[in-house]
Amino acid sequence: MRQPIIAGNWKMNNTIAGTKALLTDLIPLVKDAKAEVVVCVPYTNIAAAGELLKGTNIKLGAENVHWAEKGAFTGEISADMLVELGVEYVIIGHSERRQYFGETDQTVNARVKAALAKGLKPIICVGETLEEREGGLVEKVLVRQTTEAFKDIDKDQLDNIVIAYEPVWAIGTGKTATAQDANDTIAIIRGTMAKLYCPKCAEERVRIQYGGSMNPKNASELMAMPQIDGGLIGGASLKAVDFSQVVKY
Ligand code: PEP
Repeated sequence: MRQPIIAGNWKMNNTIAGTKALLTDLIPLVKDAKAEVVVCVPYTNIAAAGELLKGTNIKLGAENVHWAEKGAFTGEISADMLVELGVEYVIIGHSERRQYFGETDQTVNARVKAALAKGLKPIICVGETLEEREGGLVEKVLVRQTTEAFKDIDKDQLDNIVIAYEPVWAIGTGKTATAQDANDTIAIIRGTMAKLYCPKCAEERVRIQYGGSMNPKNASELMAMPQIDGGLIGGASLKAVDFSQVVKY
């Protein structure tokens, strides 16, 4: 019903030469994958990646997009610019953007709207910090982040959006949420989507990934959980064999 989707988030890694080498190795390894496969690469690598991925089952993604159509926003990249390069998915609201670059729930929402307006598919990241988890605020934070991200987003768009639940304390730390915990927390997000839209929409049309130190060792246990529809993979997406093993969980 909900096709699994595994996306790599390369972050600020790989030059064009590294991109070509990694994708050349990856393409044959995942060609028979049942999951939808995406690689989100740095802006400077998008054109080269797009050339290599033509005719393959790997979709092209970016790591951010600006909310304005164009204008005086030095250093930013618009949705049109990404579309022109064949980008299909775009990560929005990653915790590193929230932590280091002033991303807020409101700017996440603005970026989601800008992306959808141009036909890009947002991968919206939500997740609590360790402090919030220890303070018993998981539900409150996730309901707020989800509700704000989807403000004024029409129900018709739900098939074009993926949510990534990424507990901040599990990103790049080697600490993974237990599969049960990830499942139960994703159920909170799905419940929020049911309230915002409708229970059937949340059940059938909203794909929610887990992200946070997902790797070849823990992927199958996480993917076996009924609420988990895929993964957003950082570190393990930088090695073709590791990423392919996650993709084929
Ligand atoms: C991420 O940055 O989205 C992520 C999940 O990173 P890692 O897999 O390295 O924890």
